[in-house]
Amino acid sequence: MNLHEHQARAILARHSIAVPPSRVAGSPEEAEAAAREIGGEVVIKAQVHAGGRGKAGGVKLANSPVGARETAAQILGMTIKGLMVRQVLVAPAADIRREFYLGFVLDRGTQRVAMMASAEGGIDIEEVAARMPERILHVHADPLAGFQPYQGREAAFRLGLDGEHVHQFAEIAAKLYDVFMQNDASLVEINPLAEVGDGGLHALDAKMVIDDSALYRHPELAALRDRSQEDPGEIGAAEAGISYVKLDGEIGCMVNGAGLAMATMDTISQSGGRPANFLDIGGGAKQEQVTTALNIILAEPNVRSVLINIFGGITRCDMVARGILASLEGVERRVPMVVRLVGTNEEEGRRILEGANLAAATSLAEAAEMAVQLAKSDA
Ligand code: GDP
Ligand code: MN
Repeated sequence: MNLHEHQARAILARHSIAVPPSRVAGSPEEAEAAAREIGGEVVIKAQVHAGGRGKAGGVKLANSPVGARETAAQILGMTIKGLMVRQVLVAPAADIRREFYLGFVLDRGTQRVAMMASAEGGIDIEEVAARMPERILHVHADPLAGFQPYQGREAAFRLGLDGEHVHQFAEIAAKLYDVFMQNDASLVEINPLAEVGDGGLHALDAKMVIDDSALYRHPELAALRDRSQEDPGEIGAAEAGISYVKLDGEIGCMVNGAGLAMATMDTISQSGGRPANFLDIGGGAKQEQVTTALNIILAEPNVRSVLINIFGGITRCDMVARGILASLEGVERRVPMVVRLVGTNEEEGRRILEGANLAAATSLAEAAEMAVQLAKSDA
């Protein structure tokens, strides 16, 4: 689960990391009032669950309360990476001298929490990571001892900091590690961690992702969920008891069983296609769930073909076939579909689908091949 910047800022501030004071505004008038209270030049920032707001025009300076109102009016209602801006953050404009990047992530490769830091922070950090990965430091925390003070100091030296900044950076790193651990985060990030006019290091942006599976331990964090920023398909799927993860390919997948779903995605990739989603309708899926699943898949504009791969065990093939027919009646958008039904009641399932303009496949490899070809010809 993602937090908004203003929510993450509040958490960092509670851990006594230097975060400039800020206010949240839901209208241009509120932004004006906030700017008047803050006084002086302010920065107005879109609150959406997406990075790259600066480049998208979602972070702007304003040098008066009226200017703040006008700027907020431009930013509120914008969409950034498909997400609607409903709130802005108003904070005193910082006089930035240098921008650092500092974050902690779960590194699955080493099974440790890793600190990442760079002296090339700011809005181009993704490019730095892609083109000059050596400019990003990776420091792993020992799982038992935790992140150590010397690791923070050493990293500060390697980033070119000196004097009081070494101490400040090490303190912030140690505190940010605590934020990561205590909140069961999978990512915490300050970018930029900026050296400002008075020489101090301040967190001017904050991003946090909380591990969904740990939310039951943090009701106060669960309450911060903003569903308006989440994928409607993923929300609908969760409500229907379907595991669904949206991806960026063009072949929609409807599969029963997580392992079979993974194998289906692999086979699609081997055939030269890209899956548009992971979707597991589960072992005992009912007709309505099949309908819901298909609607979620077809609502995604990137989807050019659909591969339905059902191994009928607990889920009977005839039930799935009826679900497919029912949902085809209800959807406006059609794309070519390939169905592979094997197992309990497969003959009946195939009979139900006859004449429904679906391509039938017997093996998974054949089904994937067909789905890839159909996605190409439909494009
Ligand atoms: P992001 O693009 O979504 O990561 O949004 P950020 O909050 O990181 O802002 C993007 C960029 O805007 C930062 O890297 C800064 O260069 C700039 N910026 C943000 N806040 C301020 C500020 O208070 N003063 C100035 N001068 N620039 C700022
Ligand atoms: Mn940022």
